[in-house]
Amino acid sequence: MRALLIDPELLAKAVEWSRDHPIWDELGKRCLGCGICTYVCPLCHCFSIEDSVGLDGNCKRCRKWDACTLPDFAKIAGGHNFRPTIKERYYNWFYHKFVRAYNEYGRSQCVGCGRCKKFCPASIDIYEVLSVILEDYKKQNL
Ligand code: SF4
Ligand code: SF4
Repeated sequence: MRALLIDPELLAKAVEWSRDHPIWDELGKRCLGCGICTYVCPLCHCFSIEDSVGLDGNCKRCRKWDACTLPDFAKIAGGHNFRPTIKERYYNWFYHKFVRAYNEYGRSQCVGCGRCKKFCPASIDIYEVLSVILEDYKKQNL
């Protein structure tokens, strides 16, 4: 896994290119959308904000730990959901880690620890997913 992370620029290009790759259809069916991979990842940090009013009339604003792989993460007021399917949410997880993080910080948001694979109830292996994408990207673009 760590060998794959040596070239974050290549990873960013490959993951961005892979948006329409059939692997996301397959993973969209396999993934349960449980959010465990994001909760155990040492680099995932997404959160949401929740307002509540107590019986005493006081308002509270809380920051809640959240996960972009969960169904309601991209839901907004009015009920619209920007990423309603597991396939979209799971691709977004990769996009954030390998494309957006590289564009913003010059590195991937993954340290190759393997915890997401270890705790995934669907046995999805991030290393295998990235390997397939990289191989196909190189075949078609390099
Ligand atoms: S392998 Fe990468 S994505 Fe998976 S838990 Fe570790 S840092 Fe997070
Ligand atoms: S832990 Fe596995 S099944 Fe759960 S959201 Fe992550 S990839 Fe999908």
